[in-house]
Formats: sequence, C-alpha cells, structure tokens
Amino acid sequence: MNLILLGPPGAGKGTQAQRLERSRGLVQLSTGDMLRAAVKAGSEVGLKAKAVMEAGGLVSDEIVVAIIADRIAQPDVARGFILDGFPRTPAQAQALDTMLAQRGLKLDHVIEMKVDDAIMVDRVTGRFTCAKCGAGYHDRFHKPKVEGTCDQCGGHEFTRRADDNADTVRSRLDAYHAQTAPLLPYYQSKGVLRSVDGMAEIDEVTRQLEAVLAGGASLARAAN
Ligand code: ADP
Ligand code: ADP
Ligand code: ZN
Repeated sequence: MNLILLGPPGAGKGTQAQRLERSRGLVQLSTGDMLRAAVKAGSEVGLKAKAVMEAGGLVSDEIVVAIIADRIAQPDVARGFILDGFPRTPAQAQALDTMLAQRGLKLDHVIEMKVDDAIMVDRVTGRFTCAKCGAGYHDRFHKPKVEGTCDQCGGHEFTRRADDNADTVRSRLDAYHAQTAPLLPYYQSKGVLRSVDGMAEIDEVTRQLEAVLAGGASLARAAN
C-alpha cells in the first residue's frame, strides 16, 4: 500500500507515519528527514538546502525530486511507503506521478490531515525528538511516559529542530497554503483523496487512519 500524508507543519504526519511504519510495515519517506540528514552530513544538497530550511522556505523542486527518485528506487520501498512531506508543490506531484508510472506503482490513498492553523505554532514549538531512534514527542501533548526517557528505545537524549520556532513556523504555514494546499483538488480529481481529523487526540487520529486503510470507512470519510 502506498500513501501520502498531506498537511501543514505540525499536522501530525511524522507521528502517524511512524505508527503506520510499525503497525503495517510500510516505509516512511520523509523529505524533511532526508534533507536534515544531508545538512548534517554537509553534502552538496545539504549546503544548498540549509539556509532555505532555516528560513522556512521550500527547497527547490529539482533537489527534492532527485532525492525521492533515488529513494524510491531502493528495494525496501516495494513493501509499500508513506510519503511524509512530499510532494509539496504541483511540480513535485507531477514528477511523482511520472516516477510511479515508470515503476508500475500507484497511490492507494492521499490522506489530508485537517487541522486549524491556530494550534500549529504550539504543536511545532513544543516538538522534540529522541536523538537515538527518532521517536517524536511534545512538551504538552505527548510527553514520554517516564520523563527524560524515550518510550521506544529507552534513550535519554532529545533534540529540537532549528526551524521549529514561531517565526519560521509562520513562513512554513504560508508556504503550505500557497504551494501545497493546491494539491488537495489535484488528488481529489484523481479520486484518491481522503481526510482525517488531525485536531483529534493522537490515538484517535491513528484510529481514523486505520479505518481509511481498512477500506470500509474510507468511503464515508472521502473528502468532498
Ligand atoms: P508533522 O510531521 O506534520 O510536522 P509531527 O508529527 O511532528 O507533525 O507533530 C508535531 C508535534 O505535535 C509533535 O510534537 C507531536 O508530538 C505533536 N502531535 C502530533 N499529533 C498530535 C495530535 N493529534 N494532538 C496533539 N499533538 C500532536
Ligand atoms: P514540517 O512537516 O514540520 O513542515 P518537514 O520535516 O517536512 O517539516 O520539512 C522541513 C523543511 O524541509 C521544510 O520547511 C522545507 O524547507 C524542507 N522540505 C521538506 N520537504 C520538502 C519538499 N518536499 N519540498 C521542498 N522543501 C521541503
Ligand atoms: Zn528513542
């Protein structure tokens, strides 16, 4: 099964993708994670992307399409994938269609995580991640069960992203509305768009996603 999770920064894409990775054996493909790894490694792509990411803008289509094309060619992706943070522009969506067609792959569902902008600054500025395994947490909405200890791996070190500050979040939300939201009607016209309530509690969002994937409830939830 191949999915796209679509929603603004802080919508819960990464949180839910990690859960689906565990429950369904799908591979999470996060262009944000891939770009951060490139920045950390100091590669040519990383050097080009760093300033744009810190300012809350979008990295060029050329760069992210090349990254995804490489990743989609790897054998583990055949198990099924969840795209998290890609595509983000109409040009990326078209490039994805071409890549999938060349490989005989198709998208099963594009799932919009519907959220209110008003909460997104709180979501993003409270976000932190386990340095060892990448599990995501939140200062208020999703604390580790034991303070200072990762639920998943028992790690004690956590990181925060340089771009998770209030100013940058606003630029990222603007970029979402200007460049990514137009993908909703695009996928709706292809008949693959579904939606879940991203404002609900994390477990409830997972339940709604599982219902979409199970098929039955997806008809009732088909976006209109
Ligand atoms: P995205 O990948 O869409 O940018 P994340 O999954 O990283 O978003 O979630 C952003 C922050 O909000 C994280 O700190 C996460 O723990 C928290 N979060 C995710 N989903 C919910 C939810 N449904 N309710 C409350 N907080 C959430
Ligand atoms: P979030 O879901 O919290 O916005 P991501 O981790 O998906 O964060 O992305 C972080 C940053 O990486 C974005 O603000 C952007 O600069 C860059 N980025 C990630 N994916 C893409 C993409 N598909 N196209 C362009 N830029 C991207
Ligand atoms: Zn961990």
